[in-house]
This record gives sequence, structure tokens and C-alpha cells, in this order.
Amino acid sequence: DKLFEKIPAAPEDPILGVGQQFKADPRAEKVNLSVGVYQTEEGKIPVLNVVREAETRLYKANKPHGYGPISGNPDVDHYIQELLFGKDSEVITSKRACTVQSLGGTGAIKLAADLLHVVLGKNKAATSAPTWGNHNTIFKQAGYEVSHYRYYNKEAGTIDFDHLIGDIRALESGTVVVLHACCHNPTGLDFSEEQWKTLLDVIVERGLTPLLDIAYQGFDKGLDEDASSIRLFAKAGISFLVSSSFSKSFSLYGERIGGLTVVTQNADEAARVLSQVKQMARANYSNPPLYGAALVATVLGDPKLRAEWEQELAAMRNRIREMRELLAEAMKKAGSPRDFSFVTKQDGMFSFTGFTPEQIERLKKDYGIYAVANGRICIAGLNHKNIEYVAKAFTAVQK
Ligand code: PMP
Repeated sequence: DKLFEKIPAAPEDPILGVGQQFKADPRAEKVNLSVGVYQTEEGKIPVLNVVREAETRLYKANKPHGYGPISGNPDVDHYIQELLFGKDSEVITSKRACTVQSLGGTGAIKLAADLLHVVLGKNKAATSAPTWGNHNTIFKQAGYEVSHYRYYNKEAGTIDFDHLIGDIRALESGTVVVLHACCHNPTGLDFSEEQWKTLLDVIVERGLTPLLDIAYQGFDKGLDEDASSIRLFAKAGISFLVSSSFSKSFSLYGERIGGLTVVTQNADEAARVLSQVKQMARANYSNPPLYGAALVATVLGDPKLRAEWEQELAAMRNRIREMRELLAEAMKKAGSPRDFSFVTKQDGMFSFTGFTPEQIERLKKDYGIYAVANGRICIAGLNHKNIEYVAKAFTAVQK
């Protein structure tokens, strides 16, 4: 049987592959700055206190593991809308949005791509250059032709906004435009409020379909602040989609918990859209996993736990900020030929260092420091114990 005889090997995931190499590295001083996972000062993925409390409650409740609804835990779907739009927002009271729980943020993007392609026949999508690689893969695999709008000005280390607007304006009407609502991955550069407004105007004028991806809500400035772009789009009254993730904000990476929210024009439209998204979910995986959703619902449904969660989230965000400041200082102290203060101005978990693939390779080979080949580092992999070592290595590979 020759069925698989000529099948080519698929390329290794550029980020997850690095994580495997890191695991296999025997050096004690090794540092993992590759994967987009929050780590504590001890270099561990935290179990949040509120999650542990929710786990205890679920254990005691001892509920059977039956099937959940296709759209997932209804409480989670509601809390997602509250987190995105604010508790008493018009979007919620008018019921013009629907939310379906998904397999993480990734699953939400796939549901969005399927909905727009299968039901509405869309086949063009545009992502930022650069972007999180899976944006491109998901849309390609869902049957889209994917183009890229310019995002990053390498020389200036800023958003290339003029070119970006030009590229967005040139997109064919109806194109799905994937945007990072906050904490842009990989550059760590987010739009200003003014830039969001300009972008929104162009999107409306050109009849484009925005998908706002928010995988890091609460990791930049705060839960409400980080959703400001989504609230701006909601206020404009347009139809758009949002992919949410609790992977980072609850440190629940492996539980695969997120949601797709579709904002429409009225409650009737939202109900019809919901029926279609459920159809997509049903044909892909039938219904989403219950456990992560139950954890999130337990925490967000209890005012005391919710307040504690916000504190734990703030602690993660603040530790990342502190590491940004410390890295800039340590680079100065180590005698870096290049000023690294730009890392303090970037948003979220990532920093684009400007290191070449060769420099990233040297960091790995000579120092056991693992980063993504495009120069992206995860700031959350830094801590008080490894930061000087990292700064010395970062300085050495520049010389
Ligand atoms: N969008 C972006 C921009 C991301 O960086 C990630 C995680 N790396 C996701 C979506 C999806 O996250 P998950 O599926 O793990 O929730």
C-alpha cells in the first residue's frame, strides 16, 4: 500500500520545537525565553491560588463527566462577554453578541475562520507581518489566501503605521483582518488610541471584517484597559469577531479554554450566527472540554475569588514589567553596544530584540539561552537569578 509513501514531513513548529530542544539541554544554567508561557521568579508555570481553590471545590462537588453543551459552559460564555465589553455594556444588554467556548484562543480563531469561510464564503485574510505563526496556518488550512500588512519598522523599532494603513486600505473589501487587541505577538508593540481610531475608520470605509485576537487580556495594563480596542470597535456599532483565551490569564494552558465572540447588529442576527458557530464546533470536536471552563466559571462567579484573581493577574503583569526594567539596566551594566531601553516601552509578554537568526543560534549553542529565530524573547522567562547571565550573553553575541 503506497498511500503514505510520498508524504512529505511537515515543518516543525518554530516555537514549540525550540521548547523540546530546551528540555533536552543538560546545562544547568539554561534559560527558556522561547515559548509564550508566563513563568514565576522560580522559572515555573504557576498554579494560581484561585485555580487551586476552584479545583478543591470541584473535587468536593464530585460531578459526573457528562457531555456539556456544544457552545460550552454558559457561565463562561457570559463572563467572556463581561470581560470583553464591560459588565453593563450595550453589546451585552442588547444581546447582539454571541459567544461559544473554544479550545483555547487557537480554537476560537479556527471557529472564526470556519464560520466566515464555510457559511459566508470568505476566502481572503490578512495578518500582520510579523504575527503569531499559527494565525497564518489556521487561515490557510481553513481555505483562505493569506496576505500580510506591514507592521514593524525594523530600523526604528516601532510600528510602521503609515505603510500599515496603506496596506490595509488596499485590501479587497470583505477581507478578514486579523488584529492583536493587545500585547502584540511577537513585537510587543501595540497601537495607540489614535492609531486604533484611524485603523477602525479605514476598516469601516473599506468594508473589511475584523477579527480581534485577545490572548493576553490583563497582561499589559489591566483587564479593562487591555480590552479598550475591543470596546472602541463595539462602540462603533460594527460587526466583528473576537477570539479570547484564558490560557495566560488563568495559567490554564493545557486545559484549552477560550471563546469565540461574534458581535452582530442585533439579537436576532446573533442567534442565527450562534446556531452556525455551533454547527462548526459540532463538526470539529462535538463539544468543548468542561474542566478548565468549570475552573474559570467557579473563580469568576465568586466575587472574592474574582478579586483575588485580579490580584494574581496583576502580580504576573507587574513581574514582567519589573523584568523589562531590570533587563534594560543589566544590558547597560554588561556594556551592550546597543541601548536596550526599548524593552521597557514594549507591551505584554514578548520583546522583539532585533537579534539575527545567527545571534539567536549563538545564544543557544554557547549559552543555553533559547529564543525564537525571529528574535522574539518571552520576558516572563527572566528572573532575578538569570537576568545578569542573560544580559552578559545578549551583550557577547552582539560583539
Ligand atoms: N493568539 C496569540 C496572538 C497567541 O500568542 C496565542 C498563544 N500563543 C494564542 C492566540 C492562542 O492561545 P491558546 O490557544 O493557547 O489559548
